Amino acid sequence: MITSKNCLAKYGEPEKENNMTVWDVPANLEVGVIPKKVYCNKDLVLPLGKAFKNIIDRGLSAELKTWDGCFNIRKKRGATSASLHSWGVAIDINAAWNGFGKTPTMSKALVSCFKEAGFDWGGDWTKQDGMHFQLAKLD
Ligand SMILES: [Zn+2]
Repeated sequence: MITSKNCLAKYGEPEKENNMTVWDVPANLEVGVIPKKVYCNKDLVLPLGKAFKNIIDRGLSAELKTWDGCFNIRKKRGATSASLHSWGVAIDINAAWNGFGKTPTMSKALVSCFKEAGFDWGGDWTKQDGMHFQLAKLD
């Protein structure tokens, strides 16, 4: 699993916004609540595109109810280290139904769309964060 240390080593301080980009989401992926533009790390573009494509191809678009953001410089919930959102390598979806510390409600099928595209899921953690997906590895 990627840590804030890994991100700091690769991208530097979050405030520098190194390696960030405004990703113009391809029109064929703009289905349902999938945003038209995402301000994110360049390294997130390919995996997130794959995850969106998986969701569409598998007919799960209706399960993606809300897009709850990517880049946000902040500490991890309940911790002192920086959240991976600080480097734009994490995203949140369906936040209202998958709160931090609560039992996630999203389907295994939806979670698989992200995992198979190269993401770790916060719902697998001891302190569950079901809304949260982050890059599984940095190249
Ligand atoms: Zn998150």
